[in-house]
Amino acid sequence: MLERVPLLPKHLHDYAEVVEAGTIERITALAAPLEGKRVLHLNATAYGGGVAELLTTHVALLRSVGVDAEWEVMSGSDEFFGVTKGVHNALQGAEIEWGAEQERIYLDRVRDNAVRLDGDWDYIVVHDPQPLAIRQLVRNTPLDRDGTKWIWRCHIDLTTANDRVWQFFQPFVEQYDASVWTMPQFVPASLSASRAVFAPPCIDPLSVKNLDLGMPFVREICRKYGIDVDRPLVVQVSRFDPWKDPVGVIEAYRKMRTEIDGLQLVLAGSMATDDPEGFEVWAQTEQAAAGDPDVKLLSNLQQVGSVEINAFQRAADVVVQKSLREGFGLTVSEALWKGRPVIGGRAGGIALQIHDGVDGYLVDSIEECALRGLDLLRDPAVADTMGARGREHVRQQFLSTRELEDWLRLFAELA
Ligand code: UDP
Repeated sequence: MLERVPLLPKHLHDYAEVVEAGTIERITALAAPLEGKRVLHLNATAYGGGVAELLTTHVALLRSVGVDAEWEVMSGSDEFFGVTKGVHNALQGAEIEWGAEQERIYLDRVRDNAVRLDGDWDYIVVHDPQPLAIRQLVRNTPLDRDGTKWIWRCHIDLTTANDRVWQFFQPFVEQYDASVWTMPQFVPASLSASRAVFAPPCIDPLSVKNLDLGMPFVREICRKYGIDVDRPLVVQVSRFDPWKDPVGVIEAYRKMRTEIDGLQLVLAGSMATDDPEGFEVWAQTEQAAAGDPDVKLLSNLQQVGSVEINAFQRAADVVVQKSLREGFGLTVSEALWKGRPVIGGRAGGIALQIHDGVDGYLVDSIEECALRGLDLLRDPAVADTMGARGREHVRQQFLSTRELEDWLRLFAELA
């Protein structure tokens, strides 16, 4: 068996007070025919990054509606995760070294996991490229049952995927019964997959990260990290990854700072276990911050966990997610849900979440990011109004219950 992720239970009915009327009833009806079905979600990390965040809630909610769901994590190695991080970057358009050696490292490790995968599943949902080849590598084993439906969930924007790397992965994707994507634009034209479904990710309004948190708590948590909530604050929460452009955020902050006295910047980013690049980008970001005491670089290594992220997002006058490429960007919905306006890079799923000029701004450069930031910092009333609109937008489209409905519908269609 692969490593199983233990989960705290969640109850669909607890969501009734935050979701739109009729949602709970619709979900209950969709789930009834799927009662007792066995669903396995498989990914590469139980911690750090959006996929782990999503599965913590999604798998627990599947269980709460009677589906027999599990979440297992494949095992990797530094070498394997080095290769798959390269794959991730290449699928977002970067040039990387790719050849027989990388293919061997990738396939050997997925094969090890394929041998250890067991169970009797109605649906196996495989997330992202790391475990993707496992569907092929279990062929002619007891797991390769007729009744099992295989679904690949791609969280990445493949619009500008590096051809060589994509050509290696495409045949693996084509062996799945369905694939699920954040946006239609992400699906490569060359893909002849049997069924492509669109279901953007969602946030859990009842998780520690998103639960309402009183101002005294916010103030106290921020104080512990040297953040003064009485001074203006810009926050970006994301892994230390070049595509999240933390160095660009520091440059935008510097431009804003010349006009806004006492401005502070928080860059909070967890170090995911499948992301060896994190420490390198942290070092580059630290260098860019050049010892400025009002730039706080924080991570799980300083005990920044969900409640701290919640507090930083709430304390922010403006939240930034200045990604250059992005699958979805859960942090955008997280901040909008807290009533904060968000300035996002015009990339991937960020554009689904921000209505430009309504609940935040979409930007294409450091300059634009700084100008929009200044607009919001100078006019807190406008910032609050935009944030409030964002919260309603998230309530309608990006809460976990919507995602649960999408998946229940897909399972029923594939049955
Ligand atoms: N996150 C966190 N702590 C951090 C940085 C990020 O808990 O220090 C969370 C963040 O709140 C969000 C997820 O990690 O829930 C990141 O998801 P997103 O879709 O924004 O980006 P990804 O990391 O999947 O590219």
